[in-house]
Order: sequence, then C-alpha cells, then structure tokens
Amino acid sequence: MSQKAFASSADLGEKEQTLEVLADGVYALTAEGDPNVGAIEGEDFLVCFEAMATPVAAGEWLAKLREHTDKPVRYLVLSHYHAVRVLGASAFDAEVIVAHENTRALVAERGKEDWESEFGRMPRLAKQADSVPGLTWPTLTFSDRLTIELGGDRGDLVLQYCGRGHTEGDIVGWLPKHRILFAGDLVEAQAALYTGDAFHRDWVGGTLDRVKEFGAEALIGGRGAVSRGREAVDEAIEQTRHFLRVMIDEVGAVHARGGTLKEAFENAHAALHERYGRWPIFEHCLPFDVSRLWDELSGVERPVIWTAERDREVWDQLQG
Ligand SMILES: [Zn+2]
Repeated sequence: MSQKAFASSADLGEKEQTLEVLADGVYALTAEGDPNVGAIEGEDFLVCFEAMATPVAAGEWLAKLREHTDKPVRYLVLSHYHAVRVLGASAFDAEVIVAHENTRALVAERGKEDWESEFGRMPRLAKQADSVPGLTWPTLTFSDRLTIELGGDRGDLVLQYCGRGHTEGDIVGWLPKHRILFAGDLVEAQAALYTGDAFHRDWVGGTLDRVKEFGAEALIGGRGAVSRGREAVDEAIEQTRHFLRVMIDEVGAVHARGGTLKEAFENAHAALHERYGRWPIFEHCLPFDVSRLWDELSGVERPVIWTAERDREVWDQLQG
C-alpha cells in the first residue's frame, strides 16, 4: 500500500451544500458527505440540530436558514460531543444548549483533545478555526428522553437516547407528526462510518434496533443524503449495521486467532472496500475504526482518548 496523506488533510475541495425543506418548518442541510445539520421551527422559536465545526461555518448555514425564517434559536441540540458538530455553537446565540448527560461528561473529559484531533484530521471543516471561542458546554442535559413542545399545531420534538453507539452519548431527534428522524452519526447514508469512539457491539444490535423502531419516513443521518421513504430509511440503517457487522466479523476473527492489528486492518479494508471504498471518508476513518474495535475486543471498555499525536501513530502504523 502506498503512503496516503493523513486522514482528510489533503481533501480540501469545498463540498456543495443543499438545504432541503422536509416538511413545514423542518430543514436539513446536507453536504456531499460532510456533516449534516438541521433546524425545526417552533411556533415562535427555532431548534437547531448540530452546530458545525466553527462559528464561521455555522454562520454560513444560518444565513441560508434565514432565507426561510427569522425566528430566534431557543434550543441548540447536539447529537454528540465530536468537535466538528459542536464547536460552531456560539454563532447560534441559543438560549439553551441540549445534549445527553454523557456528552457533557465527554466534553469535560476529552473535548480539548478531540478538538485538536478532529481539526487536524479534517482541516477543510475547520473554517477560520480561530473563530472558535472555546469548548461548547451543554446547559441542559438528560439521560433518557426530553420532549420539546413546538407550540401551535407543530407537535413535539422528542430527543431520545437509544444506547451506546457512535459515542457514549448519542441522541436522535424525532418529529412524530412528520415521522422525520434526525439520527446524528448513529446512521450514515452512503458515507463511511467513523467508529473511533464507538461501542460497536451495542451499536450494531440494540441501539440500531431502537433507531429503526421509530419507523421514520425520512431520516437525516450524520453524513450523506436525506433518506426519503421507509425503504430508504431502513436501507440507511441496515447499511450502517452491515458496515459494523463486517468490521466486527473481520477484526474479531483476526483478534480471536491472535493475529495483529495490521492484519485486522487489512482484512477489514479488503472486506469493506468493494462496497464502501468510494464513499466519503472511508480511507480516513478505517484506521481509527479498526484501532478502537481492536481495543474493544481486547476488553478496553471506554475508547482511548484520541490526540493529534496518537492519530498520527495509528495512521502511520495502518495506512503507512
Ligand atoms: Zn461523530
């Protein structure tokens, strides 16, 4: 294998952003595999879902949203703690920043390291990185479920924890009235999975089962296009599950026979490449994914904190 540029450090081309109105007052911005964001109108306020990587990037999203509504942002919902999802928060002037209680703990434990790691891996997303004022701290947390009444005849937004998955603290946003689900990074549609902070065995089973149980008619995953219709929604969920299943089988087999991490990486790469190799961030994610899964299979309960230095070591070991 020839030397590959680190993570997405050489991937600097702008992605095209598409703002879609999924229902009255329900918006999704997708970006060809870059992180998706969304917004939901209440009667006299807005709920924004995800914050992008920097205030400058978030400001560009808000400018697009402001062509549709000028309501103030009352709630900013963060699906999980990853830097490219949360560090743009200050641009929203939100009254309340909502996240799972584990997400708040993860920001405290590893937010700084994750910031450095992620901005090094994906410099394109770190638009004017110096505009980030500091870590983003959720001001309202919950453990299982939180319901936001949208007012008028707009129904509710239900924020739900479905179990450990992409991280220890992922939540989804469910609009029962429209049967629309904002799934965060628990589901990707035609984009590779990042599992470097994941709990693969929980995610592949019970957590994805609970996501599927909503029976959504439209799903906005963490990356990739909006899935429209039950069939497409289930396809996105099952694609996510398949990616995880193949990784667990391949890495698990090498681990069980006492092989090496490098062998596990090569086998997982070979098994996934044909179906997923051309999808966004496949080569970027896989070394970190396999490294975490290897730890998980070795009995390391919680993901080891990624730092800029550890990123390079794992990259050089597996993609070098
Ligand atoms: Zn993430």
